[in-house]
Amino acid sequence: MSVDKALLDKVLQDAGSLFQGLADNELTGLYLIQDGRFVYVNPRLAAMFGYPQEELCGGLGPMHVTAPEHQALAQSEIDRRMQGKAKTGHYRFTGMRKDGSHLDVEVFGVSTLFQDKPAIVGILVDVSERSQAEREVSNQLQFIGRLIDTIPSPVVYKNLEGRYLGCNRAFEEFAGRPRDDLIGRTVFDIATQDVAAKSDAADRRLMSNPGTTSYEGKATQADGSVHDIIFHKATFDNSDGSVGGLVTVMFDISERKRMEERIWQEANYDSLTGLPNRRLFRDRLLEEIKRARRSGRGLALLVVDLDRFKEVNDTLGHELGDKLLTEAATRVRACIRDSDTVARQGGDEFMVILPDIADPAIVGQVAQNIIDALARPVILDGHTVYVSASVGVALFPDDAADMDTLLSYADQAMYAAKEKGRNGFSYFTPSLQERARNRLQLANELRGALAANQLSVYMQPIVDMRDGAIVKAEALLRWRHPVLGMIPPDQFIPIAEEIGLIHEIGDWVFKESALAARRWRDLPVLGGRGIQVSVNKSPRQLVTGNTHEDWIEFLREIDLSAEFVVIEITEGLLMDARTEVASKLLQFRDAGIQVSLDDFGTGYSAMSYLKKFHIDYLKIDKSFVRDMTTDEGDRAIAEAIIVMAHKLGIKVVAEGVETAEQRDLLAAAGCDFGQGYLFARPMPMDDFENFLEDGKGKTVQ
Ligand code: C2E
Ligand code: CA
Ligand code: CA
Repeated sequence: MSVDKALLDKVLQDAGSLFQGLADNELTGLYLIQDGRFVYVNPRLAAMFGYPQEELCGGLGPMHVTAPEHQALAQSEIDRRMQGKAKTGHYRFTGMRKDGSHLDVEVFGVSTLFQDKPAIVGILVDVSERSQAEREVSNQLQFIGRLIDTIPSPVVYKNLEGRYLGCNRAFEEFAGRPRDDLIGRTVFDIATQDVAAKSDAADRRLMSNPGTTSYEGKATQADGSVHDIIFHKATFDNSDGSVGGLVTVMFDISERKRMEERIWQEANYDSLTGLPNRRLFRDRLLEEIKRARRSGRGLALLVVDLDRFKEVNDTLGHELGDKLLTEAATRVRACIRDSDTVARQGGDEFMVILPDIADPAIVGQVAQNIIDALARPVILDGHTVYVSASVGVALFPDDAADMDTLLSYADQAMYAAKEKGRNGFSYFTPSLQERARNRLQLANELRGALAANQLSVYMQPIVDMRDGAIVKAEALLRWRHPVLGMIPPDQFIPIAEEIGLIHEIGDWVFKESALAARRWRDLPVLGGRGIQVSVNKSPRQLVTGNTHEDWIEFLREIDLSAEFVVIEITEGLLMDARTEVASKLLQFRDAGIQVSLDDFGTGYSAMSYLKKFHIDYLKIDKSFVRDMTTDEGDRAIAEAIIVMAHKLGIKVVAEGVETAEQRDLLAAAGCDFGQGYLFARPMPMDDFENFLEDGKGKTVQ
């Protein structure tokens, strides 16, 4: 490299004009300081500080143009160079104009000699505008920092090595460490090993392929709680466009997860018993059938229906009904293997899938175990409740090769078990299918039976045990089916209850009976004492029906004194915890209608309720009357019932009196009234009237 020495010499010789050129420039200030005073300032510098050039050079020094807070700084900078400690100085300080206002300046000073004495020559620029811009950037950065802090989700950013550069407040809280303690650390320092490894792997993938990514995972918060998190990650660039690091935003989805879990739970499980519901059950059954097809092993489907659960529910109230169902679920579950499925089908029906059946005999054993388990008494809030179960069994592939048929066959088998007398199980047989079809047909035909005049009320005399006089009668419903002939009420009343027809039919029976009682009141042969007619009311009618007011009103309309009518209810009703049942019963009583307790001895037999509900009559069930001649125990019970009832002021009717021996035993025990084939069978109204008129109304032997 060659230097043009001649040109350089010439420039130095002519330094005067070079300096003049510099001094005249309009951007930078130029100064010469010696002995703490300005020896020279150029016009630009004087203008910057708002002084006439002569004034600054006429005795003022650098301290005059320096803001008080920076005078120490400026002085020490100047001293260092004046004392030869440094050759050059470059610094910023806040300057002060003549009017006292401030400006930001930057100086570059060099120590030199002027007239053989130390001096400083330098240039000075007004950087106020630049400072302003810098302040704005810094403000903006702070603002962004505050902004990120307001984000409720944890945000953290790190460099290419995975070391934290910063984070927001939510992240600090999640990590349980202040920002300063996080910066410089890696995820391995703050998270569990597996969470950190997963995060690190995702970071590496993202760094090598910049952009965004997200994944779901778990993270443990500082308080130890584990959260479901969606980690959103994105790389960020340096100002030169190279990848600078990455930022992670953590979205906490724990709440959503819990919700989803709950929705799933609700959609698939019965909330009361915790068992799979119908939906999940169908999924499982379908799955098991597929498996059975592949494996060639058999599968059994059991339908478990609680006998008389509705009675318990209607009478003891839903709360205890629910408890009973929960207990039943527990018992059924205890009878099966872990690999078997129990589901609640709704109501009082449970379904059991027994897959991998090698020996069909096992199915019968399981069914029997379930029946035995459910037959054990259940204690509910102090009430001892007896339920039993009827179980229907259908086998795959023996009975049916598809799910819906299998389900319907198991159902039919369950109904067959119920018809066989409950508390037992039944396998599906082809004849069951026909029976099921008939039942459905019966239900349809029953709807039209009343309008078609196929229903009629029969009357069965009830006699005074002392003299055999007919004093009462029980109204018993009959259905004369055009094709099937006489259908017994035991068969169609449950259907009527099931399809809700019982209200309409029961209403009709009551009115027919009341009208009959009205006619007989004036029958001369009865000498004006008339016949008190008993009308059966099923629990369902009393609990959900609302006819009692109509009935009382009807009696008023036909001008029949209420004493000619008795309502027969079953024992279970008395145990109903719900007040409306009690109040309905009391309304009957208040209207003067007496209440008779039917089938006494077969159900709950809780004596305490008899008094509470002001029961007028007690009907000893047929089964006791039938066995009292042969079974000492039954006789003792029958006698005890009579004594106890009388003590409570309740009169006793014996049902199903078929022999003179029974009558005599009952009469000897003090029984008040008798009903049964011995006296007369139930008969149509007209026959009953003839029966009375024939004079048999006085005594029947
Ligand atoms: P329940 O109230 O216990 O009626 C007495 C049943 O015993 C009647 O059966 C009657 O025919 C029968 N019976 C009478 N004397 C004797 C006898 O000496 N020996 C035997 N073995 N049985 C005798 P029925 O008429 O078949 O009625 C059956 C059940 O149907 C009734 O039992 C009652 O629970 C119900 N029921 C009948 N009519 C109505 C009604 O209008 N409404 C409601 N809700 N239920 C009714
Ligand atoms: Ca009855
Ligand atoms: Ca009865």
